[in-house]
Formats: sequence, structure tokens, C-alpha cells
Amino acid sequence: MPVGGVTVLVPLVSPDLPNTITAVEREQLLDAARQALTRAYAPYSNFYVGAAILTAQGRIFTGCNVENASYGLTICAERSAIFAAVQQTSGKLALRAVAVVNRDQVACAPCGACRQVIAEFGRDTVVIFQGQGGFQESTIADLLPETFRLS
Ligand SMILES: [Zn+2]
Repeated sequence: MPVGGVTVLVPLVSPDLPNTITAVEREQLLDAARQALTRAYAPYSNFYVGAAILTAQGRIFTGCNVENASYGLTICAERSAIFAAVQQTSGKLALRAVAVVNRDQVACAPCGACRQVIAEFGRDTVVIFQGQGGFQESTIADLLPETFRLS
């Protein structure tokens, strides 16, 4: 809300929503993502990616990248998982965490499109991804500080 011409930012971390995950949850997500990447359809890039998401209700959904001969139609593993979860939760998806892995075990942070989609379903979402020196953990608010919003 504007105060004296200065916009006061609302804290992004809600006290009602945990923005941390346990070590067990992290391993469960990474294991699920590793299983998901084996189902990827990546005949063009041969870059296999798997993602697993943890909902506020404690459910895990997975996704993999799906490529297309028309390259622009390719979908990332993160969005694949999230879109499946939306359908399975009747449009009431609330994210706690997203983990993404790739078969080559190279640095691979979520792309901008996936960051926007993750933010849609939880500004406190923890994101785990392969960084330069191993897995990194961040919040989507840190990865995408200014999301597009209609309201
Ligand atoms: Zn992406």
C-alpha cells in the first residue's frame, strides 16, 4: 500500500505457509524427480529432465519434459508436473516445493516460464535444482522477485 508516495512491500513469507521442507521431504522429491526423468520424451535434445512437486496437502506429483518436432511446443518438466497437479487437485493447487533434476546432472535452474508458473501457485515455494556445485535450494520469490500478476 502506498505510504507517502513510497510503496511498502508486503512480506512475501506468510506465517501460515511453511517455506522450508525437511531433509526427508527433499530426498523424497529428488527421488520422485529422478524416476520421472526416465519417462521424458526428449528425442531432439537428448536432455532428460524430471520434476516433482510437493503440495500444501503433502501430495507429490511428477512431470517430465516433452519435446516436439516443432521445438516451441516443448514443455518443461516443472510445468508438466504442475499442470498435471492442477487437474488432480481440481484447480486448488498450493505448492510447497518443486525439485528438478536432469539425467546429465548438469546445472539446470528452472527457466523463466516455469518460474512464473511456480509463482502462480505459491510465492513461498521452495525450489531445489542442480546448480554449479550441487543442488541448490531457494524460494521462488528469490528466483523471480517480480512476477506478472493480473491483480
Ligand atoms: Zn521451464
